Amino acid sequence: AKQGRRLAVTVLGATGSIGTSTLDVVARHPERYRVYALTAHRSREALLTQCRRHRPRVAVLDGEEDAAWLRRELAEAGLQTEVRAGVEALVEVVEADEVDVVMAAIVGAAGLLPTLAAVRAAKRVLLANKEALVMSGALFMDEVARHGALLLPIDSEHNAIYQCLPHEHRGGLGQHGVTQLLLTASGGPFRGWTPEALATVTPEQACAHPNWSMGRKISVDSATLMNKGLELIEACWLFDARPEQVQVVVHPQSVIHSMAAYSDGSVLAQLGNPDMRTPIAYGLAWPERIDAGVEALDLFQVARLDFEAPDEAAFPCLRLAREAMVAGGTAPAVLNAANEIAVDAFLAGRMGFAGIAELVERTLASLPMEPATDLGTIMEANARARHMASDWLKRR
Ligand code: NAD
Ligand code: MG
Repeated sequence: AKQGRRLAVTVLGATGSIGTSTLDVVARHPERYRVYALTAHRSREALLTQCRRHRPRVAVLDGEEDAAWLRRELAEAGLQTEVRAGVEALVEVVEADEVDVVMAAIVGAAGLLPTLAAVRAAKRVLLANKEALVMSGALFMDEVARHGALLLPIDSEHNAIYQCLPHEHRGGLGQHGVTQLLLTASGGPFRGWTPEALATVTPEQACAHPNWSMGRKISVDSATLMNKGLELIEACWLFDARPEQVQVVVHPQSVIHSMAAYSDGSVLAQLGNPDMRTPIAYGLAWPERIDAGVEALDLFQVARLDFEAPDEAAFPCLRLAREAMVAGGTAPAVLNAANEIAVDAFLAGRMGFAGIAELVERTLASLPMEPATDLGTIMEANARARHMASDWLKRR
């Protein structure tokens, strides 16, 4: 932004909930940012609309056919945007020399390779794609350190903790007087429900989150508390914390986005309206602050803040994730893969809500944990877990 040089931004998963919010913030600051590339899986109409509005240099879709369609439409509209297809193209648009910032907002394991590519290219990496870090934890953080990438967490909880920690927090939390990370959770749409009531919930109910509007996969994860489990793992890697140093606190108002507790008794919290544009703007502008288009927090309207312990008996996914983190190695990648298959099956009406935790637990139990020292081992564990979970769904 200084001396008039605008930062070039690539948005992976531009058509999603995080991608759309990112473009909203970027468009508020044309003097600071320009869009280099926008990518989407199959949403070609949505990507076309975004290309008209944001004029990226490159647009990427998964399939050749969709890419050809978009190329034609853009040419007809007289736009210069170049259209590419496939995973290699995703990697190209993060590695490009002129790119400064990569928003990693693809959902699920599909985001791992391009997100890692952004790390290896030493970009400013805004990490929304938590599954990438959950799968590859140690390796991912090693690559961040080795290549000197600037990794800024966009998940609202981790962004809040980042804001509450001293700037240099590597080498273990204890060294900096931090005793605990308090990870807040809304509790999802089914907080307080009995296991019997949970057995009957529909995908529509699961996707109607009380406080946040999000993609369907993360909405289901929020309903099962797997999202909080993935976030626990994410927090351990991002902040060099042990699982027992991360406490999950259910806070239904979602106004406190998470906290850090210090040895002198201080607890620092970050508060705000539940709007992802706040952490996105923080990541884009760090260490500066910019307008995010978010309404100021009105504490009188909030009136009260409640806290309660999570119900791990009704929501076993949180426990499964903690156990996978403690087990280490490929276990978190297996947990994530089985969960992705389970969520797809639930959303497609092929399995009930309780089946999600069951499928994840079965898959974890039947795949031996291996040390996750290289990407090949992680990708293979991911593939095997998917295969095993899909297979079990078919045979059931
Ligand atoms: P979404 O489903 O709304 O959007 C996903 C985006 O990724 C879309 O642009 C889609 O086209 C693209 N995509 C999907 N599958 C792909 C594939 N196989 N290859 C390439 N691109 C693909 O999801 P979202 O809610 O925006 O979430 C994105 C990520 O951010 C997730 O990892 C989620 O956990 C994380 N996150 C989201 C929120 C939120 O409020 N939505 C909050 C915190 C973290
Ligand atoms: Mg979150």
